[in-house]
Amino acid sequence: MRDQFPILQRTVHGGKPLVYLDNAATTQKPQVVLDALMDYYTNHNSNVHRGAHTLAAEATALYEEARDRVASFLGARSSDEIVFTRGTTESINLVAASWGQQNLQPGDVILVTEMEHHSNIVPWQLIAKQTGAAVRAVPVLDNGELDVESCLEMMSTRVRLLAVTHVSNTLGTVNPVGQLCAEARKRGIVTLVDGAQAVVHLPVSVQDIDCDFYVFSGHKLYAPTGIGVLYGRRELLNAMPPYHGGGSMIKDVSISHSTFLDAPQRFEAGTPNIAGAVGLNAAIKWFSSLDHEQLAHQEHALLQQATTGLLAIPGIQIIGTAANKVGIVSFIVDGVHAHDVGVLLDEQGVAIRTGHHCTMPLLERFNCTSTARMSVAAYNNAADVERFLTATTKATSILFS
Ligand code: PLP
Repeated sequence: MRDQFPILQRTVHGGKPLVYLDNAATTQKPQVVLDALMDYYTNHNSNVHRGAHTLAAEATALYEEARDRVASFLGARSSDEIVFTRGTTESINLVAASWGQQNLQPGDVILVTEMEHHSNIVPWQLIAKQTGAAVRAVPVLDNGELDVESCLEMMSTRVRLLAVTHVSNTLGTVNPVGQLCAEARKRGIVTLVDGAQAVVHLPVSVQDIDCDFYVFSGHKLYAPTGIGVLYGRRELLNAMPPYHGGGSMIKDVSISHSTFLDAPQRFEAGTPNIAGAVGLNAAIKWFSSLDHEQLAHQEHALLQQATTGLLAIPGIQIIGTAANKVGIVSFIVDGVHAHDVGVLLDEQGVAIRTGHHCTMPLLERFNCTSTARMSVAAYNNAADVERFLTATTKATSILFS
């Protein structure tokens, strides 16, 4: 597995082998994805959906093959329900601007949760301001689980949309999105699930979850940056106005008026990130070929190893101890800024993330301003976690001395 990731062979800080545990920020790319990008630009590069020549047809076929791959990866009913975007952030902004502008009115409520990434809060605030709607947040319990009871109570008649993360990027908590979407549906509430952290850790079926929208970014799933996905129910997408206007999304244009294609083209104005889609296709193909039972077992073992090891280090507290967690562990060190921990780990070759992880309301709820976060991917092993624990022990002993 590790041999398939060229970057994992490199060293940092004067020959220290790299231990990469910042996977919730972005994952490294396997050789097959790098090869797919190189092959696309070397042999097939052209613009899509326009042009009669061979390369245009090949590029279009590759781009649409990627859409088909994503549709089956997410269990969508049709490839027409898959819109390519730049990433999770753009997907949520698209829904907020397009669906929100059309459907929200003064007094309406958009329900988010306290554990959302800023990209699932700020776009809703922007559209709330324009439409007179309000944003409310479902609380998080002390162990980092969502307060589901409060969520159900907060789903009043004024709530038009529930935007909830499938997996918290800071806590690792897996939310019961199927249950929440079912309850929302009973009340006529539209649902958007942020799958940025989920697709790489859990099997996802949008039909099982029964959400209206599901979004994720390619780069957290071993694919390139700059490509992401919006899944939307076909009838909802086709009822929504365009987000961006331009080429490739119109049926007909006159100076006074334009008519638009159905989804997904309606939401893909201009030349898309074709190479990104090709890379995403290769990444999903590669990821889907792995033994997921074994991967889940390995991730659970690494999570246990990291949790037990961290709790054995004096002065460390883990933020987020939900019963159902993926391999993401946030921690704070008594009286020490997380950034200092991160720098000391980096000097030992261990890459983790420190900061607010774009979840400032969540950290405020836990009375802190930053945490250190380690997060695992398919290529991490027990030796990586051991090196992380040794480096953290050394860092705390330096910081406490
Ligand atoms: N949502 C969650 C849960 C995330 O973890 C992230 C990225 O960290 C995002 C949204 C935003 O993703 P992107 O920056 O790829 O748009």
